[in-house]
Amino acid sequence: MNNGEIFRDIRCFVVDMDGTFYLGDRLLPGARAFTDAIAATGREFFFFTNNSSHNEAECLEKLRRIGYDAPAGSVIISSHVTIDFLLRNRPGQSVYLLGNENLTGDFLAAGITLTDINPDIVVLGFDTTLTYEKIDKAAAFLAAGKEYIATHPDDNCPLDGGFMPDVGSFMAMFQRSTGRQPDLIMGKPYAYTVDYVTNRLGCKREEIAFVGDRLQTDIAIGAKNGLKTALVFTGVTSPQLYRESGIKASAAFENIGGLAQAISEYPFQK
Ligand SMILES: [Mg+2]
Repeated sequence: MNNGEIFRDIRCFVVDMDGTFYLGDRLLPGARAFTDAIAATGREFFFFTNNSSHNEAECLEKLRRIGYDAPAGSVIISSHVTIDFLLRNRPGQSVYLLGNENLTGDFLAAGITLTDINPDIVVLGFDTTLTYEKIDKAAAFLAAGKEYIATHPDDNCPLDGGFMPDVGSFMAMFQRSTGRQPDLIMGKPYAYTVDYVTNRLGCKREEIAFVGDRLQTDIAIGAKNGLKTALVFTGVTSPQLYRESGIKASAAFENIGGLAQAISEYPFQK
């Protein structure tokens, strides 16, 4: 089966942002070819990022700044999965949230009660405003046995030419301090993200494919949940790293333009 045939029945691609569609402040080669091929073959695509330090408005503004005008509603974030999970499964419960202004704003807009006094749940997000006081409070709540949910598992957030410590690193700190690991983790590669995305997009599992540069999140979500995936070598994974990894994508491409070329011969037919 060639790469185009693999994705023949895919109606909707769920595309990672950093290292897949852009890197730092530039669109990656093939990004435009990809959006053109999506339109030309009668498909749809949405962005999905694990980075819960951004809200949708910020993501759309960044895309616009680097030359791609994405419509409102086209960016999905691990924070959306977390909020949806809480509203459905923990209605009325209060949350001690480790998050910056963007994440806090999204939780409040969703009507979730935030408190730093005796919360029901501790939610660990990508808090770029983390302080010792917040760490200390969260550790006390975790030690007291409060439910513990993390928005996503990434250890580091890639930057152009570097990285920032991300939620996975904070998790390691709390594990050392309290012995606790999150009871639940949202975002890629976890099933909550698959359920949220299929629900939100009104797709069946076999109609969506995840596209991304990171094996442990973008590709593992397919491997763990029986979904198709496309790996691109424009981010954190090199061809050599991929050959040596046990996590395999449905197909791998030099960049997202390779995926565009593959699907362009196979218009989507319902
Ligand atoms: Mg990425």
